[in-house]
Amino acid sequence: MSLLRAFRSKALSSPSGERPSEEALTVATRFGKVAITVRRSVQARRMTLRVRSAARDVTLTLPARTAQAAARDFVQRHVDWIEQRLARLPERIPFVAGEVIPLRGAAHRIEFREGMRGLVRVEPGVRGGDPVIAVYGLPAHGPRRVADFLKREARADLLAASARHAASLGVAIGRVTIKDTTSRWGSCSATGDLSFSWRLILAPPHVLDYLAAHEVAHRREMNHGARYWAHVERLTPDYGRAEAWLKAHGATLHRYG
Ligand SMILES: [Zn+2]
Repeated sequence: MSLLRAFRSKALSSPSGERPSEEALTVATRFGKVAITVRRSVQARRMTLRVRSAARDVTLTLPARTAQAAARDFVQRHVDWIEQRLARLPERIPFVAGEVIPLRGAAHRIEFREGMRGLVRVEPGVRGGDPVIAVYGLPAHGPRRVADFLKREARADLLAASARHAASLGVAIGRVTIKDTTSRWGSCSATGDLSFSWRLILAPPHVLDYLAAHEVAHRREMNHGARYWAHVERLTPDYGRAEAWLKAHGATLHRYG
């Protein structure tokens, strides 16, 4: 995440004291028009611009009473900064034929094939090439079928890992839900429902396994204290390696699809 704060900008009230009703801001950049999500916050003391690499969006946080003209002016003065940050975002990799994507941490090439409508399966690579995610049926449906396939695989792996860790810890878990979140990889509710990002299926298996252990361990401790981490360590002794992997490579998982 990239962040820019206007340290010297004062929160300017609009003359009427009313909040502007139109909060959508767009700015012309060399990448075309970019929409900026505007958030007003009573805690904010200054204007803050962010370019979030996972969500690939630009947000502007404003003190509650900042005039929209001041916000627009602030954004205009930082177009260069926004362009620099957008230029640094990794290229998107769509789920189309010929692209190579990681599945359980290993490179797989996507191929679209005729016939056997709707079938998606992993097939060995030819002549020592990468294994293939073979998608059968109309190419127009291919990208959605790849996404659905990855979500099914993610769900199966996360269900199995969560059940195994829950049995080791002697705890019960509720529903396991697969989502596409940008802010966190997993969560555990007070009632034991777990949710995970489907993108974990792209990461090496030890990373997915750690995330399952992380959320299941919250069934013992709903915090990140010393006792909590002792449970995690029992379930996944080398969890430090998974945390390091996520820190180094986690953002790249958001490039796909
Ligand atoms: Zn946690």
